[in-house]
Amino acid sequence: MDHSATTQLSQRALDAMMPYFRDSYGNASAVYSYGQEAKNAVEKCRNRCAKCIGALPTEIYFTSGGTESDNWAIRGACELKKDKGRHIISTEIEHNAVRRTLEAMEAQGYAVTYLRPDAMGHISPRDLEAAIRPDTILISIMTANNVVGTVLDIEALAAIARKYRILFHTDAVQAAGHIPINARKMGVDILSVSAHKFNGPKGVGLLFCRLPTRLKPLLYGGGQEKEERSGTENVPGIVGMTEALEESVNALDANAAYLNALSRKLISGMLKIEGVHLTGDPVRRLPGFCSFLIEGIAHSVMLVNKMNEKGICVSSGSACSASSKEASHVITALGYDARMGQCSLRVTLGMDNTEEDVEYCLRAAKESINALRTEQKKKAPRLEGRVNAIGGAEPET
Ligand code: PLP
Repeated sequence: MDHSATTQLSQRALDAMMPYFRDSYGNASAVYSYGQEAKNAVEKCRNRCAKCIGALPTEIYFTSGGTESDNWAIRGACELKKDKGRHIISTEIEHNAVRRTLEAMEAQGYAVTYLRPDAMGHISPRDLEAAIRPDTILISIMTANNVVGTVLDIEALAAIARKYRILFHTDAVQAAGHIPINARKMGVDILSVSAHKFNGPKGVGLLFCRLPTRLKPLLYGGGQEKEERSGTENVPGIVGMTEALEESVNALDANAAYLNALSRKLISGMLKIEGVHLTGDPVRRLPGFCSFLIEGIAHSVMLVNKMNEKGICVSSGSACSASSKEASHVITALGYDARMGQCSLRVTLGMDNTEEDVEYCLRAAKESINALRTEQKKKAPRLEGRVNAIGGAEPET
């Protein structure tokens, strides 16, 4: 029940990948037929991936995953536009792949404005417009948040970037394969995708970059990907990602209906437990995404461990900081007390989960929460502030 962290490789993706490990294993840059077979496979995938996200094939670059795509988007855009200015706008709720890259840019002399979200995780287009300066060269705002599952209004935000002719990047790593993604319709210039979030293989992703913009490379070398992203192509990975992306995109509506029915059940069951609150937008959230704040438990890691003992894999927030005892920066940015942020819980359902799983999870959560609260009664912090705004609300998705 931690599908936001990663997903199982789909059978179709695995079957599609297999021939490229041992039979058609040629280097896609080689001129002989083995190489050309691999090259053809990569180019077919480029076309298919482009169709899935509303892009042209020439706007798709294969990468090693979401982290590289985010790094490249930001560093590449800064390098490209450095003569125009050194100001970037982003948000307080980005994944570390974006945050840490922005911090690295700050260390190089760039200024970054971090927009604060509202209590549900939305960024106001007005705040974005107000933050724009004459030297702003890039705006980077995620499509869907990986801690609370809120789906942001990227179309409205990207429209502002277009008005001021500023490059707009969106980290769509949690969104792609789960909600409709159409880069043109969204109006973004650059968009990051990672395969392992939608039943594709790990270590492969893509970056969309709208023409005529051509980012400065992050990786130099053999000149693959039109001289813009060097490195021998990960042919099995690219084939697996493409198969999984198509599979997910073709089943978006059916999957969302199934997952939303499951998450409604899980959320309403969790909210019946005293001192449990839903985080993020109750309606505009990723399918199957359930996120909570739980009163009276000092660290979410304790709850995650207790659930693990009962055979359930859930998360305290994002997997990258799952073992950290500090409050998630996202929870703090939403306005919750830092101590309460330590009791965040993320349960992200997937197509392999069933109603019985949800029922079992609810029982396990109840028992775990009660047991931990009894152990920590004296130290228990109480949730204040934002609870009245969104606590207790049931999602309508
Ligand atoms: N961006 C977001 C929103 C994510 O959730 C993740 C993965 O957890 C990443 C970027 C990094 O992607 P990858 O694991 O492919 O490097």
